[in-house]
Amino acid sequence: MWLNFDHHYRELPAACWKDSSPTPVAEPRLVAFNTALAHRLGMQEQPDDSHLTQWLSGNEVPPGAKPLAMAYAGHQFGNFVPQLGDGRALLLGEVRDQDGRLQDVQLKGAGRTPFSRGGDGRAPLGPVLREYLVSEAMQALDIPTTRALAAVTTGERVRRRVVEPGAVLTRVASSHVRIGTFQYLAARGDIEALQELADHVIGRHYPELAERPDEERYLALLDAIVRRQAYLVARWMGVGFIHGVMNTDNMSVTGETIDYGPCAFMERFHPNTVFSSIDEGRRYAYANQPAIAQWNLARLAETLLPLIDEDGDRAVARATEVIEAFSAYFEAQWLSVLATKLGLDHEARPDATRALGDEFQAVMKAGRMDFTLSFYRLYQLAAAMNTPAYPQVREDILALGEAPEPLTVWLERWEAYHAEVGVLEGPRLDRMRRANPMLIPRNHRIEEVIAAAVEQNDFTPFRTLLSLLVKPYDDTDEAREWALPAQPGQEVLRTFC
Ligand code: AMP
Ligand code: MG
Ligand code: MG
Repeated sequence: MWLNFDHHYRELPAACWKDSSPTPVAEPRLVAFNTALAHRLGMQEQPDDSHLTQWLSGNEVPPGAKPLAMAYAGHQFGNFVPQLGDGRALLLGEVRDQDGRLQDVQLKGAGRTPFSRGGDGRAPLGPVLREYLVSEAMQALDIPTTRALAAVTTGERVRRRVVEPGAVLTRVASSHVRIGTFQYLAARGDIEALQELADHVIGRHYPELAERPDEERYLALLDAIVRRQAYLVARWMGVGFIHGVMNTDNMSVTGETIDYGPCAFMERFHPNTVFSSIDEGRRYAYANQPAIAQWNLARLAETLLPLIDEDGDRAVARATEVIEAFSAYFEAQWLSVLATKLGLDHEARPDATRALGDEFQAVMKAGRMDFTLSFYRLYQLAAAMNTPAYPQVREDILALGEAPEPLTVWLERWEAYHAEVGVLEGPRLDRMRRANPMLIPRNHRIEEVIAAAVEQNDFTPFRTLLSLLVKPYDDTDEAREWALPAQPGQEVLRTFC
């Protein structure tokens, strides 16, 4: 046996899903397999590549799997679409990982489903490799995320902006239930199914709430989801991540990052940064992400109103209070992220985090500084405190910006803070290190490895980049090369899904 599939989602009402089989592909080829993750999911012995290729391309259904397409709706760029659903993805089943938690295993790009509408059910190779790299990078950064188990090329072509090779990604998620899943049932007025879905989510992801009485349980669920999203978005912001398509169908109720489409990491710091070619209104810009998360959560709250309180007005009042609390939850998480990134002792000097944090962002913006390297150099500076290397590292950070003057002023304030609060060392320095990766998946590098795969059928650059992204704090010669920001002419300003 390869993986031991369970099928809890099938116990939900029929409105929630539809049976659907993968459509075979012409010439499948396994290009990536995440052996470590497979072992985490209970794989004892690795099957031979020909079996894996058949299963992970959808040419054969793996033993014990029962593929289904999940139903969901969603607000796309603010407009409600009552029926979306898995148009190109199939849930094979759920497997128990080494920690005893259920994980969904899903094929993405496995052909048309009952929810495909006009789509072809397929995924181009470029986005599959992008999702593989970025989701595994997020995992290495300890940011909640879906994972990539495998990528298979199909030997078929898919037509998008251009004609590209097709591929299938095997995605692993603690759940594929989205805000849009709740919206789907609410839009149909199916309150019974909605309650079953809510209880399913509680049982699987928030078991500590299961024993709460009915009149508290669903409000508590909303609150728990709000807290997890506040944490998630704060962690995104801490690495300069821009999701790109924060539609309600792309927001998981477990607080994992899901649906890597035109996502990107910011290089030069600017709060209004957008990469996605389809985000013309800049709705999902870097600095808008907390407000959008809160807006999405309000859409979730609306679906839960009938479960929260029989009295409509009271339900709205109770839910509104929880949604409004998002701001405070986010603020607390963000200050904690900022303090760790700047090496500050937030508990000792809470006011300083806000002041130094806001100013550092203003300095990065004025100097058009690279987000990742600015913080990484700051970590190096902290690590060099009271050593002879300090002046050189200080020069290096000053060289990053186009406006050294404000940066010098800021550094003096940061140094004065540390002179007062104490030199960073031990666990605090280590926490700062883990908050400030050297290597993130840079857009031009992702494009480069995709181009090699698509144009030359060469997956070596993809594998090299992947092997480095899973160790984002390792400052080696090779990693340093991949960590460089785009040079003029290399910059990728638009991403496509
Ligand atoms: P996404 O933009 O990937 O989050 O997808 C939004 C919706 O469109 C989801 O319901 C997808 O299942 C569906 N979709 C995206 N691409 C395709 C495709 N090639 N074929 C069918 N449905 C698709
Ligand atoms: Mg989606
Ligand atoms: Mg997508």
